[in-house]
Amino acid sequence: MRAAVFMGKEHIVVEERPVPECGPEDVLIGVRDCGICGSDLAAYKTGNYEPGVVIGHEFSGVVEEVGRAVTSVVPGDKVVGNGVLACGRCSYCRKGRPSLCDELEMTGVTIDGAFADYIKLPEGVVYRMPGSLTFRQATMVDPLANVLRGVSLSSLKDGDSVLIQGAGPIGLLTLQAVHDAGAVKVWVTEVNPARLKMAERLGADAAINPLDTSVEVFLEREGGEGPDLVFDCSGVPQTLAVDPTLVRKAGEIVVLGVCEESVEADFFTVVLNELTIKGSYCGYNEYPSALQALAEGRVDADPLISSIIALEDIVVGGFEPLNRGSDDIKVVVEVSS
Ligand SMILES: [Zn+2]
Ligand SMILES: [Zn+2]
Repeated sequence: MRAAVFMGKEHIVVEERPVPECGPEDVLIGVRDCGICGSDLAAYKTGNYEPGVVIGHEFSGVVEEVGRAVTSVVPGDKVVGNGVLACGRCSYCRKGRPSLCDELEMTGVTIDGAFADYIKLPEGVVYRMPGSLTFRQATMVDPLANVLRGVSLSSLKDGDSVLIQGAGPIGLLTLQAVHDAGAVKVWVTEVNPARLKMAERLGADAAINPLDTSVEVFLEREGGEGPDLVFDCSGVPQTLAVDPTLVRKAGEIVVLGVCEESVEADFFTVVLNELTIKGSYCGYNEYPSALQALAEGRVDADPLISSIIALEDIVVGGFEPLNRGSDDIKVVVEVSS
């Protein structure tokens, strides 16, 4: 089969690999569509994935074969697969925090993923797609589960105001998810004009480019208290550094974006204003609700998918333009149709 293999920094090759063998508790899935994740792009830039691993974790496909112990899906079922593989035995798994598992494996990061004709997964992380969902829309289940985890960890309640830093796929999904969860005012900041436009189209009350407008001045004009919550989806130190001074007193900062650099932030304000800062990593238990939200149209995946490319073009049509800072939001690889 064809597979996109991570070789190192700015080095991904599409090569022939054997089709994975389906063990007694496994499901072999023929991949249809798979999205390029921000983490995949970060790994392309920095080289931080396992060399030799088949990348890709935001995928949908059709069950091809099941092991003899598998009971929940049958060949022909349309499915998605959870990218987080937790051991189920460690203290974090037992506390219901699988993304903190001591032996965490991640599809397309530490074990072979879905930019390939076939992927093999244990039955427990394979979910049937609701009938109304397309393969393409279903690639957004993984990032949406991520976002829904952040929303459920947060203190967001009906009537709250929210500032979202960053309008990439995660920020734009957060915009829709917080509206769905009852936020009344949602402001979005972003430096890319195309992404700002998309934030407006998806219902942001204001889309602010911090290169043109001071976010602080904007918030003052809006009443001055600041938002009840900030969701930081940018993955850059610049926004994280200012979050404590933007959120209102007793407000909450939820960090969804992954930023490997250390950040200098105003912890004086964190103390004086009694702020809460929360991190959120991956979705797991949120998979079924992400499938539901997309199937019911409460979250719209279609406008976020900006390019569809073939597996052979994953570097020239996907990673290279994304790395150059193209206007793309989500690039989806059509592995087979
Ligand atoms: Zn991802
Ligand atoms: Zn565990």
